[in-house]
Amino acid sequence: MTNFQAILYLVSGILFILSLQGLSSADTSRRGNLFGMVGMGIAILTTFLSPKISHYFLSFLAIAAGGGVGTFIARNIPMTALPQLVAAFHSLVGLAAVFVAASALNAPGSFGIGSAASIHTSSLFEMGLGVAIGAITFTGSIVAFGKLQGLIKGNPLQFAGQHMINAALGGGIVLFLLLFMLTQSSFVFWVLVLLSFALGFLLILPIGGADMPVIVSMLNSYSGFAAAGIGFTLGNMLLIITGALVGASGAILSYIMCKGMNRSIINVILGGFGSGASAVASSAAENTRPVKAGSAEDASYILQNARSVIIVPGYGMAVAQAQHALREMADKLKAQGIKVSYAIHPVAGRMPGHMNVLLAEANVPYDDVFELEDINSDFSSCDVAFVIGANDVTNPAAKTDTTSPIYGMPILDVEKAKTVLFVKRSMASGYAGVENELFYRDNTMMLFYDAKKVCEEISKAL
Ligand code: NDP
Repeated sequence: MTNFQAILYLVSGILFILSLQGLSSADTSRRGNLFGMVGMGIAILTTFLSPKISHYFLSFLAIAAGGGVGTFIARNIPMTALPQLVAAFHSLVGLAAVFVAASALNAPGSFGIGSAASIHTSSLFEMGLGVAIGAITFTGSIVAFGKLQGLIKGNPLQFAGQHMINAALGGGIVLFLLLFMLTQSSFVFWVLVLLSFALGFLLILPIGGADMPVIVSMLNSYSGFAAAGIGFTLGNMLLIITGALVGASGAILSYIMCKGMNRSIINVILGGFGSGASAVASSAAENTRPVKAGSAEDASYILQNARSVIIVPGYGMAVAQAQHALREMADKLKAQGIKVSYAIHPVAGRMPGHMNVLLAEANVPYDDVFELEDINSDFSSCDVAFVIGANDVTNPAAKTDTTSPIYGMPILDVEKAKTVLFVKRSMASGYAGVENELFYRDNTMMLFYDAKKVCEEISKAL
């Protein structure tokens, strides 16, 4: 690598760091995104300057095909499907790590890591570790995709002996990694890949409910470390830097989310270890207890007579794309002198920051939006909690039911408000598959509507 290339790679690396810094707040996120794009542009051009690149046509073809598919997906994907898209992309990073390692094993000379049957020991270690992390990321991300897309049940799936099997697979991976370094055998390499595929699958299967957001960011971190592994095999400094940045930032985010959700990060990484068989979700039982249901007119009457209203948005608001109609409704309430605030739960919706993005898109003032810890104590003094398409994040079972898959997760204390208006279309449970006791409380009124429609009808009535 020439000095010129090294300097350009360094510039890219700095731009990636500035990008992460920019993305940490809504105000600076556009700038952060721009830094990332410029950094990636410089990285690609610099890589093409390398004398190692000879197949320009093939490379451009691959970039055009991947870029075309990526552009199509980015333009058409609904915001609610972003988490599963991210999981799907992580799986591709994992698979790429497996392919690169397999190619390096087949043609070590082209990668500058030695010759057939005498590959450098350090390169064998990098390849073996990279391929194991890549393969775990691949199958783990596919399971996460299935859970988020609703193809696999979203609640934790546990079976007897699961942890023993995971421990045996982990031990097998270490053993075959050592064997691979000693023998350089293709057979051992592929056994290592298969064991890692199996471990990735089994690690994510028992995770569900409130732990899914953590696992998405954990897989993000794994994909970064897998990319760093590819960087070592390809001898590409920037890929090592970028992979390490993604790996470290994903791990830090997972840690922060675990702390916010009262979860042990070790338990989550080890596939629900310690949560015990009792934590398996009990799906919402058929319940015939009566609930109080009201109309949009009833809701507008209650809202008009309130002095303070706290809006709790959730996944259903995102599905209905109700954020604009909601803001218009809130504007009408404010015009009547009613205090309106928004309470955001850290895992509301289907991705970190989901609700903040939607509310910002609808131009809801930042000053009206509060995080859980800043607003939770206000519910006891507020007149109406207007829960729109949220469910799990308000469920008191998280505080009381030790067998619930959301047990331990902090929740928004909406039940403390004088009246709770619950907007959803039916009595169905939320993502974690747990019944919500609040629907049956005396101070709750269910509004069985689509989230957007109810806001429009309340606005009309106001
Ligand atoms: P939930 O998934 O708990 O509940 C959403 C509710 O919205 C459902 O009960 C549904 O009821 C209702 N709904 C759906 N569509 C509409 C519509 N068009 N109009 C009105 N209501 C609608 O959402 P929460 O935001 O409360 O909680 C998020 C859950 O997702 C948590 O369990 C979290 O762990 C999990 N999760 C979060 C991620 C993140 O990063 N934020 C990532 C992965 C999972 P009905 O069908 O009756 O209308």
